[in-house]
Amino acid sequence: MNPSTEQRIRTVELADTEQTDAAVERAAAAGPGWRAMAPADRARLLRAFADQVDAHRDELARLEVHNAGHTIGNALWEVGNVVDVLEYFAAAPERLCGKQIPVAGGIDITFHEPLGVVGIIVPWNFPMPIAGWGMAPALAAGNTVVLKPAELTPLTALRLGELALEAGFPEGVLTVLPGAGTVVGRRLVTHPLVRKVCFTGSSRVGTEIMAAAAADLTRVTLELGGKSANIVFADADVERAAAAAPGAVFDNAGQDCCARSRILVQRNVFDRFMELLEPAVKAFRVGQPTNTESQMGPLISAAQLDRVRGFVDAADVELAFRGTAPDGPGFWYPPTVVQPTSTTDPVWHEEVFGPVVAVLPFDDEADAIAMANDTAYGLSGSIWTENIGRALRVTRAVEAGNLAVNSNSSVRHSTPFGGFKGSGIGRELGPDALDAFTEVKNVFIATDH
Ligand code: NAD
Repeated sequence: MNPSTEQRIRTVELADTEQTDAAVERAAAAGPGWRAMAPADRARLLRAFADQVDAHRDELARLEVHNAGHTIGNALWEVGNVVDVLEYFAAAPERLCGKQIPVAGGIDITFHEPLGVVGIIVPWNFPMPIAGWGMAPALAAGNTVVLKPAELTPLTALRLGELALEAGFPEGVLTVLPGAGTVVGRRLVTHPLVRKVCFTGSSRVGTEIMAAAAADLTRVTLELGGKSANIVFADADVERAAAAAPGAVFDNAGQDCCARSRILVQRNVFDRFMELLEPAVKAFRVGQPTNTESQMGPLISAAQLDRVRGFVDAADVELAFRGTAPDGPGFWYPPTVVQPTSTTDPVWHEEVFGPVVAVLPFDDEADAIAMANDTAYGLSGSIWTENIGRALRVTRAVEAGNLAVNSNSSVRHSTPFGGFKGSGIGRELGPDALDAFTEVKNVFIATDH
């Protein structure tokens, strides 16, 4: 469904358990050929896949605009991210080096062996990038992949699967299988031939997946939710921090696990910050995602709209100010700033996953750190200060995997991404991503006979 118009785009049939088993068996059968392929040839195929995606930038971006309501600017970035990730990991097959470790009586060497079939379960919020972050390193390391897109957003993943085949990928190396989480997703987690599951989505489902995976000791990488803090100290460039804050939470209509959905402002600049934030929020352009001027589109679904509304409509939430959103069909919600009455308020500690930000004051550095860490999550966050010592102290003290100083950036394909605490297990992207898709094998060769 197009979330901007509520019109049906296309009907995609959901696979059943038997089809999932067949896809996993095909992936397992394709494994030996894929891992035996010369590293340079596997690298070449990954680059050819990147080229195919690059050549279909506009088509893929348009599909995402229609299916997920992403703005055209965001959707083009997302296709570019898939290209970057494929190119980055295309360098990996030829660099998957082991070690030679000095030992007595022989030679000791290590290998990074692929795991086998990897199941990748993708959510609806960033269908293309999250597919890329799982499949590119998995494939580069010599695994084969069965990827399940979210029920609401299967279209770009299906197209990526076709483009891999057009790039020359052997059948069965990458299968995109649309289906229900409780059918295809669950079967990927419990199928004995699936050796690793990469999941991004809700903490509830992530916890279930980890428990189910434990039965076979299936490896997991989990990227779950977040409730990230944007901490603004009085010694910061408060103008810059306030100008950047809307983009850090309203991008993708707040449906971003890295959204800085809690703003913590030092008490003596709190009023000034709010005065600067208000015009920035009101100027945030919410509109048709096909329009290149739009900075934010609709929410993904009616259910998500209800959920988001529920947080703000709660009796004790004080609305500070809000922007505007179109009327008419579509799952629209305006950028909204609230001041919770206490830190126990759900809007302060639960993941809203919508364009809602909660703002509270803090007194000093220790208070800011304690408030930032008073959450089950630990994914990302920002620290705004001109004091380098404070920046380092606070970044070391905040329990989160991805922090930025005087910036709200979270994701680069060349740096690690993942969460502390309830935000997940494991890291994606960056130089160490292949560790999550390989087993280290140690081999000792006696030389003394
Ligand atoms: P979800 O966790 O239900 O779905 C994510 C993916 O998991 C989908 O592909 C789904 O089909 C699959 N899935 C669902 N149940 C499964 C199961 N039992 N076994 C295996 N796979 C299963 O997320 P949702 O319902 O789409 O969103 C609900 C909330 O989750 C959101 O409001 C948001 O708070 C959070 N969320 C977080 C992220 C993130 O990036 N961290 C992404 C999406 C949603």
